[in-house]
Amino acid sequence: MDRLDWMYMRALVPSGLVLAFTSALALVLKQAGTFPFLATFAGFAPWVFLGGIGLAALLASEPMYRFWQWERGEGLRCPKCGGPLGALIDGRYGPYHKCHCCSGNIAARRVH
Ligand SMILES: [Zn+2]
Repeated sequence: MDRLDWMYMRALVPSGLVLAFTSALALVLKQAGTFPFLATFAGFAPWVFLGGIGLAALLASEPMYRFWQWERGEGLRCPKCGGPLGALIDGRYGPYHKCHCCSGNIAARRVH
């Protein structure tokens, strides 16, 4: 795996974790239907699973949009490595961007 593969992997880890957690929770809720006193929770299982899919897609959409812009040659690029920059973050020493590729902090005044 090269550094670009790792960049995509790092960007998709949070959405993958959300999807795994909500899938496991949906399975547990579905199994709770076998117990009579927990049967009401079994009805929530499909909604928890669908909510997890929606939340994971929402979490993955921001970095994927930035990667799509970066691959088209649009958007902000890291002056160190040329990778795509993330959203503007208000930091202690002023606004900055986090590079998705090298994880470096790039001051906003260097790229705007
Ligand atoms: Zn970089």
